[in-house]
Amino acid sequence: MEIEYKITKEQCAKKIKGVCSYCGGRLEPLKVNDGSKYPTYLSGCNRCQAFNEGVDPEIYRTAKKIVEEGFRYHSHLKDKESDSLETKQYKTKCHIGDTCILIKKILEVMKDENK
Ligand SMILES: [Zn+2]
Repeated sequence: MEIEYKITKEQCAKKIKGVCSYCGGRLEPLKVNDGSKYPTYLSGCNRCQAFNEGVDPEIYRTAKKIVEEGFRYHSHLKDKESDSLETKQYKTKCHIGDTCILIKKILEVMKDENK
């Protein structure tokens, strides 16, 4: 018997826009293993192993730039001397990912106000 998907891989692939908000990489349909009878696919990043709605490459570049300039979205994820390379990369990804969402939100609000 063929498995019935709520959202097929092809449907998911068609809806994918932009790049991964954590690493700027390519998004692809990732299978959701929630144990349900009808599995589904969601947009995600294989490199980050995370589901991800995607952002404009321009937003990603902007977020990356302001994080590189020292902006820290999460105050509890401050840089520490003792951080390993993996920890540093993980923290940077978190700051960039959530800064992307912040920029996206700011742009939406500004667009609304300019109507
Ligand atoms: Zn990624």
